[in-house]
Amino acid sequence: MESFAKSSVTELAAGLNRMARNLWWSWDQEAQDVLRDLSPRGWQNLYHNAVAILREVSNYELRVRLHDRDLAERIRRVLRDFEAYMADTNTWGHQHAPQLLKNPVAYFSAEFSFHETLPIAAGGLGVLAGDHAKSASDLGLGFVGISLFYRQGYFQQTINHENWQKEHYTTLHPHLLPLDPVLNERGEPLVCSVKIATSTVHFHAWRVNVGRVPVYLLDTDRPENAMHFRELTARVYGGDESTRIMQEILLGVGGVRLLRALGVAPSVFHMNEGHAAFLTLELLREKLAAGQTLAAAEAATRAECLFTTHTPVPAGHDRFSSELVEYAAHKFSVNLGLTHEQLMDLGRERPGDPTDKFCMTVLALRYSRAANGVSELHGQVSREMWQKLYAAKSPDEVPIGHITNGVHLVGWMKGSARRLIKDRYFSLNPGKKTLDWLIEANSPEFWQRLADPAVVSDEELWALRYKLRRELIEFTRRRLLIQGHTISQEDFITFDAFLNPDALTIGFARRFATYKRAPLIFDQFDNVVRLAKDTGRPVQFIFAGKAHPRDDEGKRFIQRIIHLSKHSDLKGHLVFIENYDIHVARQMVAGCDVWLNNPRRPLEASGTSGMKTVPHGCLNLSILDGWWREGYDGTNGFAIGDDSHPNSIEEQDRRDSANLYNTLVKEVIPMFYNRDASGLPRQWLARIRRAWVTLAARFSTWRMVQEYTTKYYLAK
Ligand SMILES: *Cc1c(COP(=O)(O)O)cnc(C)c1O
Repeated sequence: MESFAKSSVTELAAGLNRMARNLWWSWDQEAQDVLRDLSPRGWQNLYHNAVAILREVSNYELRVRLHDRDLAERIRRVLRDFEAYMADTNTWGHQHAPQLLKNPVAYFSAEFSFHETLPIAAGGLGVLAGDHAKSASDLGLGFVGISLFYRQGYFQQTINHENWQKEHYTTLHPHLLPLDPVLNERGEPLVCSVKIATSTVHFHAWRVNVGRVPVYLLDTDRPENAMHFRELTARVYGGDESTRIMQEILLGVGGVRLLRALGVAPSVFHMNEGHAAFLTLELLREKLAAGQTLAAAEAATRAECLFTTHTPVPAGHDRFSSELVEYAAHKFSVNLGLTHEQLMDLGRERPGDPTDKFCMTVLALRYSRAANGVSELHGQVSREMWQKLYAAKSPDEVPIGHITNGVHLVGWMKGSARRLIKDRYFSLNPGKKTLDWLIEANSPEFWQRLADPAVVSDEELWALRYKLRRELIEFTRRRLLIQGHTISQEDFITFDAFLNPDALTIGFARRFATYKRAPLIFDQFDNVVRLAKDTGRPVQFIFAGKAHPRDDEGKRFIQRIIHLSKHSDLKGHLVFIENYDIHVARQMVAGCDVWLNNPRRPLEASGTSGMKTVPHGCLNLSILDGWWREGYDGTNGFAIGDDSHPNSIEEQDRRDSANLYNTLVKEVIPMFYNRDASGLPRQWLARIRRAWVTLAARFSTWRMVQEYTTKYYLAK
């Protein structure tokens, strides 16, 4: 064996192992191609888990295969790109925010979604946090993330024979994931503690390497903790209110303590949602312990904290009862020298009212120097929502701004699209490096050039659309087979009757929160059946999404859609993919022709899944809520209704479903099927180009994180 141990082989193997432990590979196409080629079945069966693949391929096999010159050369190139990325000191962050390199932004979020093998998020909030971290890394920003290590993650969804969602939990194994234990100087786990109720709860942490930035996940599964505290971090938003407040004490207080133990001195604490707001009370405690007066400590805390609110939906704002706060969080009043009622008042919308609960959003707003919503309309709605806290005469005076969300563009591109787009980048810019691509793939100028038919012809663009749609349909058929409940034995024979690779494919996938109204389109059931069965111009639907385990109404939505997919005239034209996650999302945003979004306005604060479709040439069809109200310009997708909404829910639902159907039959379907003499839908392709030009760069986290930096992180 040792005869293979040439130093270059040893170095390559070590380099690969290092790279697999850094999620950078998940937004580099060549790195993924190499991992896939090392073990094609493993790539599929291990769900694209780089660490697990490098365990599956034995050391001996790896060393032997590194003598394949072509493979070795590809790996060498990937590792060179990786090392260049990690060592780059000429970043946007170095140039525009050098002070953050010493005193970083500490970004606290109850969920982070980076990759399908680390399912520690429930939905869009986590995806946004993950994309924020990835772009902070690409920008070279001084940044650390804080969250919890949910050993059982978020639930896996299956559907039973009554079409009812069932939740299952699996256990994550840190040694098979890109998680490094955080160690002290003696090489042992670094252990910190927080006081919860009357107990001292110990925790250690795991570091996720997200390119250049670390994200720390706190974990209470330690032998010295009582069993119920060992399980405190088991599940994302698991258990009841009591689990919730305890997780939030751990996140806020524990997160600050971990950073102190690591010697990290953040200049800014950014609370992504109210879940982390207890960090403000820990900062207050530190300052009081250092001898400051309460007023000075409050001012200093406020000067360090920023807050982003993500939803106008009331259930999205944690509210804890007085009894629960007294039981779980009484230590705050002890530490801050407050009575219980004084502590409660910090989180009350109506201070002094004993019936008012403790709201984490109120606490976060109270101790932040700036706050923002996540789209223009959401900023406006948030100002109205929280006006009472500021005794403001009009909502305009409320100090809540907005920064519209984005997505990590390069990371969201599916392989087929990324290969084409990257190829064109390098032919337009000969001599450029991978580092340049990671930057310029976010620039409006690049998308402007890419949209030129001289760079990507109509024929090529249509070919890309067909390839991506075909890939999605094959993926969906594979999933339907595994799901079992969807395809019966007899259907199996007519398998190809499920989904038509030529048909206009409409996708809907997101959390099944009821305000998102997943089944809205089926309010026009007979009409929709006619559209699906029009053999000349067929339309088909792919749905996916999880309902919260305690949301029976959301589960009924799922039940209804699956029922229609099995027992109505829509069979074969409507399918539901189980277990929506970031991987299913990528297949769908790439392969669908139209991305449907019909929330009850103005409850979709931003929405991000529609942004992920843009590089792939899938067009948005959406209510003018959240980001789409800003993004839609009449030429780059389709709008349902106008820039207004009635106050009555019933009227809104009625109006929106009629508008949705009308837009489909009057605009979307005719344009998709309007083919010229050469068989191309020219107007449709022109819309895709317009979407590239007007949406791609603007709704990226590259733009978003820059905006956070200049508007909030650096401003005092
Ligand atoms: C993008 C994404 C979301 C958020 O989608 P919205 O349109 O904002 O609701 C939720 N879950 C997953 C897995 C995603 O990838």
